[in-house]
Amino acid sequence: MASTKYIFVTGGVTSSLGKGIIAASLAKLLQAQGYRTTIQKLDPYINVDPGTLNPYEHGECYVTDDGAETDLDLGHYQRFLNVPTSQSNNVTTGRIYQSVIEKERRGEFLGKTVQVIPHITDEIKNRVQILGKSGDYDIVITEIGGTVGDIESLPYIEAVRQLKWDLGEHNAIVIHLTLVPYLSAAGELKTKPTQHSVKTLMESGVMADVLVCRTEHELPADLKRKLALFCNVREEAVIQSIDVSTIYDVPNLMLQQGLDSVVLKKLGLSSSKPDLERWNQFLQRHKNPKGEVIIGLIGKYVELQDSYKSILEAFIHAGAENEVKVRVEPIHSEYMTPENVAEKLKHLHGVLVAPGFGERGIEGKIEAVRYVREQGIPFFGICLGMQVAVIEFARNVLGLKAANSTEMNPKTPHPVIDLMESQKNVIDKGGTMRLGSWDCKLTEDSKTKIAYGSTNIKERHRHRYEFNNNYKEQIEQAGMKATGLNPETNLVEVVEIHEHNWFVGVQYHPEYKSTVANPHPLFVAFVKAALAFKQNKKGVSMAQNQ
Ligand code: GLN
Repeated sequence: MASTKYIFVTGGVTSSLGKGIIAASLAKLLQAQGYRTTIQKLDPYINVDPGTLNPYEHGECYVTDDGAETDLDLGHYQRFLNVPTSQSNNVTTGRIYQSVIEKERRGEFLGKTVQVIPHITDEIKNRVQILGKSGDYDIVITEIGGTVGDIESLPYIEAVRQLKWDLGEHNAIVIHLTLVPYLSAAGELKTKPTQHSVKTLMESGVMADVLVCRTEHELPADLKRKLALFCNVREEAVIQSIDVSTIYDVPNLMLQQGLDSVVLKKLGLSSSKPDLERWNQFLQRHKNPKGEVIIGLIGKYVELQDSYKSILEAFIHAGAENEVKVRVEPIHSEYMTPENVAEKLKHLHGVLVAPGFGERGIEGKIEAVRYVREQGIPFFGICLGMQVAVIEFARNVLGLKAANSTEMNPKTPHPVIDLMESQKNVIDKGGTMRLGSWDCKLTEDSKTKIAYGSTNIKERHRHRYEFNNNYKEQIEQAGMKATGLNPETNLVEVVEIHEHNWFVGVQYHPEYKSTVANPHPLFVAFVKAALAFKQNKKGVSMAQNQ
């Protein structure tokens, strides 16, 4: 293919319309027709990256192989496409300004007044084209965060206007996502918000080529015609995006609506039937489970779906792989006590203790680990979840009652989890954790090795604290084994209790790498263990009743 084609996805009317899912679904359809496709997200906030935002503000922070802390939409991109993303796939206003200001200090604009147009817009244009110029992609889909009309989105919309002009017809198009609300009192779907939002876009000189309309009800043909007429798009380019029960239905839905063929036609590219065989096999398994397991997700942000997005999605992939429905029960760690722990956890077939930062809810997590360790309930600890498993073991098995992480208590007499050596002189908070992909070597007889089917793995990290190797011998002798080590530094990346049904804690974040095409082996193994535990429990209670 001659040159990379660009698709911009903008949003109007409200936020949370699912731009990321539409972008990922379109990318899936293009990829399934043989086009090398990637997706990029531009976020109009001033933080240099979302790493310093708490999950209440912005949901989960997604980490890439190259150690970028990014928007959670990048997780969807990887889950749909099975292609990893990188730092270039997520750019914020903060990062744009930071690099323009650094250039100004270096004297790159010497003599000139540095302004939003052209300097900020040029920087945005460069960032958009980095992926295209790499030669790795035929099509780059750039999702612009926020809603048109927002003050902070203006430089991005202006950059899109310029790029459409620079790149020329058939090389860059705009897909605009809007909401078509249903007024139940009037019994009608309303097009006016869409008309206004297209008008707002046009005030910035940008014409939408395709409209994707989020709706709770089917859009009748006459309404599509009306939208097409008032919004300057062809009727075939008014695409309905109706609410569905799973995001994994959206690619098929967009295919039925012809989004891929409309887009390819506008880009002057040929379209063919996308190969969605594997995707549909996954959907088939996901929608027709043969059983169910209940997994407790213990964390302190459980009331928010987006906070543990990748974990929840990894369970969907692992459930489909095991042909069961994984019912995830969110359990707030802050309200867990020795008195109520049994009540809250006794019906579960597996427990996952989530990643996290800071002291809030930590004692509840430790209590939960004690219960599942003693009861033999399959346990999966991720990052902080692994660290609390070590603390619990030190306290209740080794008898080191005051054991803790120095993150929670800097003065603990038994710092079984301690700040990494490499972190000791770190002052800045942004982008300074141990981030990105690191090697790990697993021991032969471990559950983790069995799950991966390999001893050498690479997983992504995001933490400052680690297992304190001064306690390793003592802990291992008592039955908790360090079964995964970083081959260069000897940092403990995995702990397991072999005598338990399935007790695995990992310092890394396996959830980031789980995709529809490649469900993560540890999630698959954990769900399998939960299923076995459930069946075993049933067997025991049936035997007792006989
Ligand atoms: N707070 C812990 C640390 O920094 C764990 C981080 C996490 O769970 N991602 O080491």
